[in-house]
Amino acid sequence: MSDTSFDVIVIGSGPGGYVCAIRAAQLGLKTAVVERDSALGGTCLNVGCIPSKALLHSSEFYHEVSQSENHGVKVDGLKLDLAQMMKRKDEVVKRMNGGVKMLMDKRKITVFEGTGELQGEGKVKVTPSKGDAQTLEGKNIVIATGSAPVELPFLKFDGKHIVSSTEAIAFDEVPPRMLVIGGGAIGLELGCVWSRLGSEVTVIEFLPTIAAGSDDDISKLAERVFKKQGLKIATKTKVTGAEVKDGVVKLTAEQKDKEVTYEAEKVLLAVGRRAYTEGLGLDKAGVEADERGRVKVDEHLRTSAKGVWAIGDVVAGPMLAHKAEEDGVAVAEWIAGKAGHIDWDLVPGVIYTDPEIANVGLTERAAKEQGIDVKVGKFALAANGRAVAQDATDGVVKIIADAKTDKILGAAIIARGASEMIANIVAHMTYGGSAEDLGRTIHAHPTVSESIKEAALAVDKQAIHSV
Ligand code: FAD
Ligand code: NAD
Repeated sequence: MSDTSFDVIVIGSGPGGYVCAIRAAQLGLKTAVVERDSALGGTCLNVGCIPSKALLHSSEFYHEVSQSENHGVKVDGLKLDLAQMMKRKDEVVKRMNGGVKMLMDKRKITVFEGTGELQGEGKVKVTPSKGDAQTLEGKNIVIATGSAPVELPFLKFDGKHIVSSTEAIAFDEVPPRMLVIGGGAIGLELGCVWSRLGSEVTVIEFLPTIAAGSDDDISKLAERVFKKQGLKIATKTKVTGAEVKDGVVKLTAEQKDKEVTYEAEKVLLAVGRRAYTEGLGLDKAGVEADERGRVKVDEHLRTSAKGVWAIGDVVAGPMLAHKAEEDGVAVAEWIAGKAGHIDWDLVPGVIYTDPEIANVGLTERAAKEQGIDVKVGKFALAANGRAVAQDATDGVVKIIADAKTDKILGAAIIARGASEMIANIVAHMTYGGSAEDLGRTIHAHPTVSESIKEAALAVDKQAIHSV
């Protein structure tokens, strides 16, 4: 094989693309990655999961220290050094970029820097920002080009006052007031970051609840907890217009049949993301897209063009890094003739606020809408010793099980550390576990995770530490 021909060419180096490349190389396939940006890692590593979590951690730390007197820790002259907080976040990202680059080198994956364009018949043209284009040949091509933030028709990003998450993880000062449109993952995570750092933040959401993808009980509790923390939240509110004047954005919105207005120095528009396929040459290669511009795939992530596969945010499904990674692993295994496998019904979702919101499988409402007879167990963190010891009692664990078989159908958690706790339930569900199995699993004491065991026992009204 020449230097420009490969078994697998992956376009995009996000968690979908780079993980797919590693798995393909592990399976002995000659693999290349084409990445438009000079840094590897995609949205997740560069402007998404990792920098947002670095800021969430730093701002939580700042907030915790400001509340530490109750623990007997007195801090005089607490001050925010935002430039240092941003520098640390950038260092975290840089370190992870280096890690991905090292993995590519160690696995002998060739990285081509430039924009990849499908040419049909297994060919990909790579156009770098400087220098000449070259054409690669691949027996298999994997589209992993990710997603981009959505704008509203009357509200376009200007990078200064009306911004996406990319700018909102890099403000050089704390905005006095910030409006967040969209009470989903980005809106709540970044809304909490800037609220903790001193901004007056209002989250505007047109659905009846924030975190609408989670279980109804959990979303309601989240709203109460975040309001208590100082976040202003306006649900059932639809933004209808915007005007920027003298550095201030004025939004108009419809709220329960009346018109309301909001003003702020910054507006974070976080109303979802769309598949990114600009300049990719889908038509040239005969790759079909659906009505929302997502690359159409079958149950093995094969596109309509022979030898072309697609994974991650660019296809239908939850736009989550771990889902993209699992897609990538399965595609590499299918290409190598192995039995790749993904259970898309068991992709956990987490919003990394404090407390965190995590869920997996069916919500109670979704199960009932499907006509399934369910039993529900709940356990409030106020009765968990570890949660009390660490002042983190705002939370609940909820387990939804099939009333006839006791099989766990879904779970939702709002708790500090819910992102780590949910894995326990995902593991049980992966092996078809029942609520009784989970309730009989030994959990170390004292841990917040004991609330999972208690919620599982509560499915049959057998919880030990609640009545
Ligand atoms: P991406 O990560 O978007 O990578 C696509 C790559 O393709 C990019 O590097 C891009 O430059 C490149 N590319 C595009 N077109 C071309 C082309 N023609 N040629 C060459 N290269 C190209 N998910 C979670 O699971 N947990 C989180 O905590 C989380 N936090 C997030 C926070 C924020 C602020 C945002 C915006 C997203 C977050 N997400 C999170 C979502 C997560 O980032 C995405 O689901 C994930 O990055 C999707 O991976 P991907 O590989 O499909 O695409
Ligand atoms: P999202 O889909 O999570 O939330 C968007 C919210 O905006 C929804 O609640 C929706 O009802 C609301 N909305 C839509 N149009 C509106 C309007 N006109 N006015 C008011 N509200 C409106 O999208 P996001 O928060 O932008 O995140 C984008 C993607 O990135 C998501 O798929 C998400 O899963 C992913 N992401 C994940 C994480 C994580 O896993 N922790 C973090 C950030 C982003």
